Amino acid sequence: MPKSVLVINCGSSSIKFALLLEDQEFRIHGLAENLGTPEARIKGVTVGNEPVDIRIPNADHKEALEVGLERLANYKPDAIGHRIVHGGTLTKAELLTDDIIEKIRAATPLAPLHNPAHLVGIEATKRLFPDLPQVAVFDTAFHQTMPEHAFRYALPKFLYTEHNVRRYGFHGTSHAYVSERGSELAGSFKQGGWLTAHLGNGSSTCAIWNGQSVDTSMGLTPLEGIVMGTRSGDVDPSLHSFLAANLGWDLYKIDKMLNKESGLLGLSDNLSNDMRTLIEASEQGNEDATIAIEVFCYRLAKSLAALSCGLPRLDGLFFTGGIGENSAYIREKTMAYLPHFGFKLNKEQNDNLKRGTEGRIDAGTGPQIWVVPTDEEGRIAQETEHVVNEVSQAAAKKFETNVAMA
Ligand code: AMP
Repeated sequence: MPKSVLVINCGSSSIKFALLLEDQEFRIHGLAENLGTPEARIKGVTVGNEPVDIRIPNADHKEALEVGLERLANYKPDAIGHRIVHGGTLTKAELLTDDIIEKIRAATPLAPLHNPAHLVGIEATKRLFPDLPQVAVFDTAFHQTMPEHAFRYALPKFLYTEHNVRRYGFHGTSHAYVSERGSELAGSFKQGGWLTAHLGNGSSTCAIWNGQSVDTSMGLTPLEGIVMGTRSGDVDPSLHSFLAANLGWDLYKIDKMLNKESGLLGLSDNLSNDMRTLIEASEQGNEDATIAIEVFCYRLAKSLAALSCGLPRLDGLFFTGGIGENSAYIREKTMAYLPHFGFKLNKEQNDNLKRGTEGRIDAGTGPQIWVVPTDEEGRIAQETEHVVNEVSQAAAKKFETNVAMA
C-alpha cells in the first residue's frame, strides 16, 4: 500500500501538485505556473509550512516537476495519481499503461484544452519516476453510471454511435467525494437520493442515487449546465448561427466568448468572474453584479429541480466548492427558489457555519441541506491507492498460481 501519493493536475501552462502522506493530515502543495515563458515560477510549496516562491524562467513541465519535487526530498512519493478531465467511456480509475494513455489521447477531441496538457504531465512524471506506479483518475468516470435517457442528446443517432457525441459530465471526483461524505454525515452512507452543487469557478450539479451518478448538468464538454465564472452554461444552440449571421462571428470567436467571456464575468459587464467581488459590488448598489448573482442562483435552483427527476426519492442537497462552501448568501438565495420541494433553511446555522467546515443547515423538516467541503486531491489519492493495491494483489495471486502449477 502506498505511504504517500503525489497528486498531479496538469494544465497547458500550469501544474498543481500535492503530496498526501499516509496519515492524510499533512499535505504539501505546489503550483507551477506560466510554464514555457520567462515568468515561469513555483509558488506555495510548503515544507513544514514554509511558503516558497521560486523563479524557473522558461521551464517546461518536466523541469517544473523536478524543481518542485526537489523541495520534497524527504517525502518521496510511492505512487502518482493524475487528474484527467476526459476519460471518454472509461468507468473507473486505471493504472497508466500504454493502452490507457492511448485512450486518453483518443479522448482529446472531446477535451482539446485539457487532455493534451495531461499527456505532457504523464510523460514528464514517467521520465522522472519510471519505477513508480501511476494512476489516471478521470473527472468523467463517476458519471458513467448515468442511464442512456440521461446521457443521450436528441440528435441524429450516428453522432452518438460513430462520433461519441453524448453527455459525459465532469467534476466527478468532487461529486463522488461530497455525496459519499455527505451521506455518511447524514447517517445513510451511499444510500438514498441526493443532489450535489459544486460551485466554484467551474460549477456543476449532480443527482446521485445509492452512491451512483444518475444525471449531471455538464455534458459533452464542461460548458453545458449552470452559470460559471466565465462560462455561459446553457444557451440556445441557435446562438451560433445568430451570431454568425448577424455579427459575422466565426466558431473560434463564439467558442472563446462562451468559455472565457461569459458567465458571471459577462453578466456583470466584465466587472468580475469572482463571486466575492460581485457580492461586495452588489451590496454597494452595482446593478450588473446584482443581476449576475440572481441569474446564477435562479439557474442553479432550476438545474437542481430538473436533476431531481433522476431520483426516485429526494433526501437532500450538498453544497460544495469555493462558493458553495463559503457563501451563506448564495445558499440562501438559491434555496429561496426551491420552496415547493419542502426545503427549509435554518438561517442561523447557515449564516454561522464556519468557513471550510462541514455542517447541516436545514430547519429539520423536509429534505436535508448540508455544506460539505470538497476534497478532490484526497479522493484522487484514495483512488490511486485503491488501484495500486488491486494491481499488486492481482500480481501476488498470479504468482501464487504460477508457483502452485510449477
Ligand atoms: P473554487 O473554484 O472552488 O476555488 O471557487 C472559487 C470561487 O469561490 C470564486 O468565485 C470565489 O469568489 C468564491 N468564493 C470563495 N470564498 C467566497 C465567499 N466567502 N463568498 C462568496 N464567494 C466565495
